[in-house]
Amino acid sequence: MASPLPSQGHTPGAVAAAREALGWLHTARFLTTAAQLDQLPELALPEIAFVGRSNAGKSTAINTLAQQTQLAFASRKPGRTQHINLFALGRQGRTDAVLADLPGYGYAAVPLADKQRWQRVMASYLVSRPNLAGVVLLCDPRHGLTELDEALLEVIRPRVEQGLKFLLLLTKADKLTRAEQARALSIARLQAGGGEAMLFSALKRQGVEAVALWLRRLVQAHGPDADGAGGVPGSGQLPDLG
Ligand code: GDP
Repeated sequence: MASPLPSQGHTPGAVAAAREALGWLHTARFLTTAAQLDQLPELALPEIAFVGRSNAGKSTAINTLAQQTQLAFASRKPGRTQHINLFALGRQGRTDAVLADLPGYGYAAVPLADKQRWQRVMASYLVSRPNLAGVVLLCDPRHGLTELDEALLEVIRPRVEQGLKFLLLLTKADKLTRAEQARALSIARLQAGGGEAMLFSALKRQGVEAVALWLRRLVQAHGPDADGAGGVPGSGQLPDLG
């Protein structure tokens, strides 16, 4: 099995930073769930949304990043749990960021009316969530971006231009050859526009440290000590959600 941390070709500083980022992600704990936008708590903390079509590997990626087997429920029936689940991140009970797990879309068996309602909820969330600081769009590179992925990209593009961080994450990379990975990555870099693209495999632990560092740096850039560009006002405290 591959080593969980980079050991070859990485400076001790990079290894320490990856270890710190993974330790921080391991603090992830369930915060709340919402069936519609107005049920989401208003938070003055950077929030990072994980989005993708059903079966893209989103639950597996969240669980792998947090090194918890049951945080996001990979076994749940696709398309059934149509809730936005929020997870708090931060050491010693001090929350410094929130992960939002949005429902997977595009699952064929979901009734059309439900699909359309969720597409509207998702679009409004991405357009209007004030503390949204980053979006990770997960995509199985064997299938490429679907029409819904493209629509979602269009929705967030104006916010990316205003400073929202965006990561196009190519999941299940272990299913591709090296050449296919390189090709998928170069296409994804173009598709990501002002954002970034990375390869990820939960199975082979490929890209885990890179994504952990991307998330950590994003939140650090919004922290109370950051110089403010694009920061979330008043970040650092979480209201009592009772
Ligand atoms: P979600 O619907 O986006 O949450 O997707 P899941 O995390 O439930 O994953 C969908 C399927 O892809 C499951 O059968 C997972 O075991 C599989 N899967 C997820 N990540 C990987 C990976 O890195 N490699 C491989 N080979 N399969 C994966």
